[in-house]
Amino acid sequence: MKYTEGSEIRDAKAPSGPIEERWEKRKFSAKLVNPANKRKLHVIVVGTGLAGGSAAATLGELGYNVTSFCYQDSPRRAHSIAAQGGINAAKNYRGDGDSIYRLFYDTVKGGDFRARESNVYRLAQVSVNIIDQAVAQGVPFAREYGGLLDTRSFGGAQVSRTFYARGQTGQQLLLGAYQALERQVAAGTVTMHTRHEMLDLIVSDGRARGVIVRDMVTGEIERHVADAVVLATGGYGNVFFLSTNAKGCNTTAIWRAHERGAYFANPCYTQIHPTCIPVSGEYQSKLTLMSESLRNDGRVWVPLRKNDSRAPGDIPEQERDYYLERIYPAFGNLVPRDIASRAAKNVCDEGRGVGPGGLGVYLDFRDAIGRLGRDAVEKKYGNLFEMYERITGENPYDVPMRIYPAVHYTMGGLWVDYDLQSTIPGLFVIGEANFSDHGANRLGASALMQGLADGYFVLPTTIGDYLANGPYEDVDEEAVAAAEIKVREKIERLLSVNGTRTPDSFHRELGKLMWDYCGMERTEESLRKALERIPELRAEFWQNVKVTGTAEELNQVLEKAGRVADFFDLAELMCLDALVRTESCGGHFRAESQDSDGEALRDDEQFAHVSAWERTPDGPVLHKEALEYEYVKMTQRSYK
Ligand SMILES: Cc1cc2nc3c(=O)[nH]c(=O)nc-3n(C[C@H](O)[C@H](O)[C@H](O)COP(=O)(O)OP(=O)(O)OC[C@H]3O[C@@H](n4cnc5c(N)ncnc54)[C@H](O)[C@@H]3O)c2cc1C
Repeated sequence: MKYTEGSEIRDAKAPSGPIEERWEKRKFSAKLVNPANKRKLHVIVVGTGLAGGSAAATLGELGYNVTSFCYQDSPRRAHSIAAQGGINAAKNYRGDGDSIYRLFYDTVKGGDFRARESNVYRLAQVSVNIIDQAVAQGVPFAREYGGLLDTRSFGGAQVSRTFYARGQTGQQLLLGAYQALERQVAAGTVTMHTRHEMLDLIVSDGRARGVIVRDMVTGEIERHVADAVVLATGGYGNVFFLSTNAKGCNTTAIWRAHERGAYFANPCYTQIHPTCIPVSGEYQSKLTLMSESLRNDGRVWVPLRKNDSRAPGDIPEQERDYYLERIYPAFGNLVPRDIASRAAKNVCDEGRGVGPGGLGVYLDFRDAIGRLGRDAVEKKYGNLFEMYERITGENPYDVPMRIYPAVHYTMGGLWVDYDLQSTIPGLFVIGEANFSDHGANRLGASALMQGLADGYFVLPTTIGDYLANGPYEDVDEEAVAAAEIKVREKIERLLSVNGTRTPDSFHRELGKLMWDYCGMERTEESLRKALERIPELRAEFWQNVKVTGTAEELNQVLEKAGRVADFFDLAELMCLDALVRTESCGGHFRAESQDSDGEALRDDEQFAHVSAWERTPDGPVLHKEALEYEYVKMTQRSYK
C-alpha cells in the first residue's frame, strides 16, 4: 500500500509555560458562553459510555441543548460497563509517595514515551476531581475498615492508586454517569436516542455539523444537525474478531469521520492484555478478561521444564518459574501489560506454556489464600473467581487460573489537539475513540480515568470556547443530503451483493489474519503479507457477502456487514502504520527492533512522533507531530 508524507503538525494547541499551570491557563483563556446563549447551542454526543455519558450529562447541566445517541437499548449498556479492575487517581490517600507528578511520570513512561506531556499532566491533575465527582454521585467505591476509600495497585506503578468497586468498577461508575445523564434527560436538556447507529458525519463549510443515523429498529435513516459533534464511540479492538471488548464495539463512527477528513493517529498501537482466559476452540466468538487487579495477589508462573504435563499442584516450588518476579524484581507481577504479555508469549514459545496447545500460564492464588485467608481473597475478587469458574469449570480457589494475552484496548484513534478537537473543526473526540493520552501502551485503570477526565472536565471547557467563537455559517443542505445519499448507497450496495458468505465469517478471517500478522509481534514480512491479503479478502467480501433481510427492519446482519466493511479499511491502515514504524514501542513490538534482553527497542531519532494519517483519494498521507519531552527524560524503559 502506497502512502505519501504530508506537512508536519506543528501546533497541538497546548499552552506554553510551566506544565502544572497549562490547564489552568487554557481554562482561563477559553471563551465562555453566556448561560442564555447555551440553550440555543446544540451539541450532538455520539456514545453513552463513560466518556460520552459524562460529557452529555455535564453539557446538559451547563445548559447546552444536547442530543445523544447509542446503539444499545439503554445508555448504561455501553461497553464501559465491562470494566472490572479500577480507576487511577493521584489522591495519595495511602501516603505511599504518590503525587500528580508521579502519576504523570508513570503514564508517560508506561506509554513508552509516545504520549504528549501536556495532555498527560492534565490527566493526572484532573484524576483527583473524578473521584470526588463519582463519590458525590454515590458510586460505591470499596472502603477500608476505617471508612476511607480503599485502593489497590495496578501495573506500571509502585504506589497503590487504583480506586475500585469490587470487580465492577466500570459498571458502578457508569451507573453514576447514567444517573447524571438521565437527570438531564428528565430536565429536558438532553434528548436520548437509543438503538440508533451513526453512519456518517455531516461536514458543512469545513465544520462538523451533524450526523446521519439509522434507527436500528425501523431502519429509518435520519439527519441530525447541530453546532458541534462529539464522538465518544469507544475502541476498535474487535478488528481482531477475538478480543475482550463487547461484541458490538466497532470502528464505524470514527472511521467514517476519518473518511470525511479527520486524521487517524497511531492506528497500530494495540494493547494486548496479559490476563485473559485462553482461547478454547475454533468457534469461540469472545474472549474474557481476568482483571489486572488479580496480579496484586496472584503470582504468575510456568513449569521450569518444557512440556511438563503434571497438574500444577504436583509441581514443587523449586520446579516453578515465577518468571515476572525473576526477570523484573522491582515490579514483579505488576509490570505493565505490554511487558507481561510478551513475557507470557516468550515462555510459551519456549514450550513451557500450560493447558491445551501450551498457550497458557498460571495465575496462582495459593500463597495469597495462605497469607490472607480465603474470605479476604473472596471479598476482593469473588465475582472474578466466580466468572472464571463458570467459563472454565475450574475452581481458582483450588487450582491456579490459566491465562493468556488477548487484544484488549486500542491506544490509537482519531487525532485530537489539546482541546480534544479533531482536524475537522467542530468535531471533538473523547475517551477510547481518540488517541490522546496513553502513548504506545496504556497503563491499567487509566482508560476510565481518561474517559471521565475528558467527559466531565476537559471537553465541557474546550467545546465552550469553540462554540463561543460562533455562530458559524448555516448548515449547507446539500452537504446533509450528500451524506444521507452516501449512507443509503452503502446500505444498498451491501444488500445487493447477495453472495454466499456471512459477514461474520469474513470478520473471523480478517481477525485471525490481524492476530497472526499484526498482533503481539510484528515483522516486516508479516505486515507485508497482511497488506497483500487484506485487499484480496476485502474484494471477496464485496463480491460474496450475504446480507439477509431488508434495510427497513431490525437487521443485525446488515449492521454487522457495515462494520466489517469498515474494519477492512481500518485493518489496512493499522498494518501500514505498523510497517512504517520500524521501531518497537509499548504494545507495538517489531521483532526486528529488540534489545539483547528481548525488550522493545525504541528509535527516538526517527520515531518520537505521533503518526497522524489523512485519507485522500490518492491514498494515505502521513503527518507527523513531533513529541517533545521537557520534564520526563526519555530513557530505555526498565521495570527491573
Ligand atoms: C473487559 C474489560 C475490562 C476493562 N477494565 C478496565 C478497568 O478496570 N479500568 C480501566 O481504566 N479501563 C478498563 N477497560 C477499558 C475501558 O473499559 C474502556 O476503554 C472504556 O470504558 C471506554 O469508554 P468509552 O466511553 O470511550 O467507550 P464505550 O464504553 O465503548 O462506549 C461507546 C459508546 O459509543 C456508542 N457507539 C459506538 N459506535 C456508535 C455508532 N456508530 N453510533 C451510535 N453509537 C455508537 C456505543 O453505543 C456506546 O454507547 C476495560 C476494558 C475491557 C474490555
